[in-house]
Amino acid sequence: MCRGSGAAPGAQIRPCGECSGRGVISFGQGSFAVNRPCPVCVGRGSVPSERCGACRGTGEARARRTVSIAVPAGAESGTKVRLRGQGGKGAAGGQAGDLVITFEVQSDRFYKREGLDLIAIVPINVAQATLGSRISVKTLDAKKVAIRIPPGTSAGRRFKVTGQGIEKDGKRGDLLVEVTITVPESLSEAQEKAMREFADASGLKY
Ligand SMILES: [Zn+2]
Ligand SMILES: [Zn+2]
Repeated sequence: MCRGSGAAPGAQIRPCGECSGRGVISFGQGSFAVNRPCPVCVGRGSVPSERCGACRGTGEARARRTVSIAVPAGAESGTKVRLRGQGGKGAAGGQAGDLVITFEVQSDRFYKREGLDLIAIVPINVAQATLGSRISVKTLDAKKVAIRIPPGTSAGRRFKVTGQGIEKDGKRGDLLVEVTITVPESLSEAQEKAMREFADASGLKY
């Protein structure tokens, strides 16, 4: 540990020979001369007789740090948050860069996004679709809303729950509940007979 000096423990500190202890080197001539930090002593003006092994004389070490960031409401994949001065350290005491975080929204088991609207696919059975029903759907804030399914509802029909979508910049989208219809995978003899009678009575071909 050199505490940023870049010198090994017990090393002697001597003026830098490259820049004669000035810490800067001039390039060019006369009024065109430009001063740059000396690359040998990295602007310090002095060099140790032996360099610190941990930082190889740079006086800098890389450290991992955990930062906590606020996710803005309505963030989408590609939304960026910039943390000023939390990036890489600037060379020779220069300003530190920024840490830029890019969000990637994970897919959800229940909700899909369409802009500010949330789409929830909810399965209903054949009886609910044909006879009508009331179903309960969870909103994003884990509240339950009741939705009336009218008789004769086809798959793909959407029911709007106003204002229960994603909020962003003072605007709020809707929750759109889209129904799919599940069909029994197997029927008992009596069920099959009833279904055939229903189909015959309705003029449904199969
Ligand atoms: Zn130097
Ligand atoms: Zn060091």
